[in-house]
Amino acid sequence: MLELDHKTTAAADGHAMNILLLGAGGREHALAWKMAGSPLTERLYCAPGNAGIAQEAECVALDIADHAVVIAFCQANKIDLVVVGPEAPLCAGIVDDLDAAGIKAFGPSKAAAQLEGSKGFTKDLCKANNIPTGAYARFTAPAPAKQYVRRQVAPIVIKADGLAAGKGVVVATTVEEAEAAIDLMFGGGLGEAGAEVVVEEFLDGEEASFFALCDGTTAIPMVSVQDHKRVFDGDQGPNTGGMGAYSPAPVMTDAMSQRAMDEIIMPTLRGMMALGAPYKGVLYAGLMITAKGPQLIEYNVRFGDPECQVLMPRLMSDLVPALVAACDGMLKSIDLRWYADAALTVVMAAKGYPGSYARGTEIKGLEAAAQVEGVEIFHAGTRRDGDRILANGGRVLNICALGPTVAEAQARAYQAIDRVDWPDGFCRRDIGWRAVARESTSN
Ligand code: AMP
Repeated sequence: MLELDHKTTAAADGHAMNILLLGAGGREHALAWKMAGSPLTERLYCAPGNAGIAQEAECVALDIADHAVVIAFCQANKIDLVVVGPEAPLCAGIVDDLDAAGIKAFGPSKAAAQLEGSKGFTKDLCKANNIPTGAYARFTAPAPAKQYVRRQVAPIVIKADGLAAGKGVVVATTVEEAEAAIDLMFGGGLGEAGAEVVVEEFLDGEEASFFALCDGTTAIPMVSVQDHKRVFDGDQGPNTGGMGAYSPAPVMTDAMSQRAMDEIIMPTLRGMMALGAPYKGVLYAGLMITAKGPQLIEYNVRFGDPECQVLMPRLMSDLVPALVAACDGMLKSIDLRWYADAALTVVMAAKGYPGSYARGTEIKGLEAAAQVEGVEIFHAGTRRDGDRILANGGRVLNICALGPTVAEAQARAYQAIDRVDWPDGFCRRDIGWRAVARESTSN
């Protein structure tokens, strides 16, 4: 406890901190970029990081699935705060293990991370706390799941209970498709994630991502974001991790954000507290804005990727004290301020993504692209080879831009993209289309 008390005091006094960020994607580059600019940051490390993160932080090749290795690094390097980017280490209990070692860590405990780790857990929590979400049933075997589906109307949604890296949701347009998805999931197609299946009512509306910083009892809403999950223009083609995002999301008016806080986020915090698993960290609600109001599609227990890449450029306040306050149960004393500018990010991916793609192709022109006004480039999957930047993943770059409107942010981002020389990459050309269309009709 002494160690923890000392750290709380150090942060509260404004002493600079040594910070370790875990992760390797565009989300972590955006977090590293923001935290590197904080006067509270003394040394910033990232494990394992990527070529872009290396411009902001010292990258260290730790196996972040090995919690003992992470703890040993923290002790050897006097780390005051660990910030966990991706969901897998959170669901594996890295925050609990760091806590037990007296190391402050931003993110939920293993028990609280069930909000992402188990869709059934979240649905039950919603039911118990009257949180608006689609009707559902949980199954551990295919036959009763299919029986249930036959009594419903299509479209209907079939979800693997566990973590499936974005592949665990099938929006079935017919009962036959739904039955095939049930067979696939129970047949081991998604590994352990599919041992249990949730069948859920299809919700009709417009989707938005809603983020709140939470300390167990207090939640602070962040600005709204909308992302594009489909790989091709016009929101066509297979689902991906996300091909772009923008903020603000026009569908999330102030009134809708307030409803999301009152009807979804706050009842969740109270419900988690009642279960003895207070939620600390960032809570990312995937919402469907329906005719009846906001409904919860799913929770994630970390920042979205690529949503984080538009949140960080819009955040005027220092992120570091907010993260510390979330860990310490002190968010009631934090006020997050935001730039009025819109932000937009376009993902550049390796040709073939989300299917198979080549690694190691060279990317040129990044410096010229970064010179476009309002543009910031975050690396998602790159590595450095001498002077060369090479693609090292499916989603490779996030070209982000701020602008007075979404349309202007979009124009800047594409102007920068046109300066990137990467014949083996591609991107969507219509990120932000809904917001841009709304802006042009309101002018
Ligand atoms: P997820 O992987 O859980 O983010 O879900 C992928 C996508 O499936 C979501 O972004 C939605 O577009 C869609 N989806 C999930 N659940 C529902 C639902 N109940 N109704 C309509 N669409 C859904």
